[in-house]
Amino acid sequence: MDRALSWEETEEKIANCRRCPLCESRTNTVPGVGNRNSIIMFVGEGPGYNEDMQGEPFVGAAGKLLDKMLLSIGIVRKNVYITNVVKCRPPQNRDPLFEEQAACLPYLRTQFKLMRPKIIVCLGRIAAKALIREDFAITRQRGIWYDKKGTLFIATYHPSALLRDESKKKQAWEDLKIIREKLKEFDFYE
Ligand code: SF4
Repeated sequence: MDRALSWEETEEKIANCRRCPLCESRTNTVPGVGNRNSIIMFVGEGPGYNEDMQGEPFVGAAGKLLDKMLLSIGIVRKNVYITNVVKCRPPQNRDPLFEEQAACLPYLRTQFKLMRPKIIVCLGRIAAKALIREDFAITRQRGIWYDKKGTLFIATYHPSALLRDESKKKQAWEDLKIIREKLKEFDFYE
């Protein structure tokens, strides 16, 4: 994909995209939202029902929990960039297929190039497998920094997983504290 695309051009391409079958059932594309100049980006797996209806990521119950998670480490949602691996909703909220992820990932890569975040937080195993390593095991490998060509990646549980299983919240809190410490090193809070 063209390196020189602007944010607006990228979002327009996404809005008109028919590169995978998810275009057939979407209401809106969900390119991402937030501060494009932030040093930190959060990446989930794909839009759900509410996100598809509103065209914005993490606006349903999982989104409310994400907002709380961010606030718990002093982050206001509008100060970070939030997006997903796939920009259209998979039917019945199923996992995005490998082919759908492969078709959509060039948009995320363009967003990386435009934003150049220092930290990328993968929310859940789908994003971690797509962005950190194919065989990523979220239970064992979350909360660990992975340096990929100077960009730091880390994974934690997807807020939806925390809503399904509250016992994971303690581990997610540990991950959030690790992220907070790294953000301090980058003077994020000043
Ligand atoms: S999920 Fe991505 S690749 Fe598939 S149609 Fe939507 S924008 Fe295009």
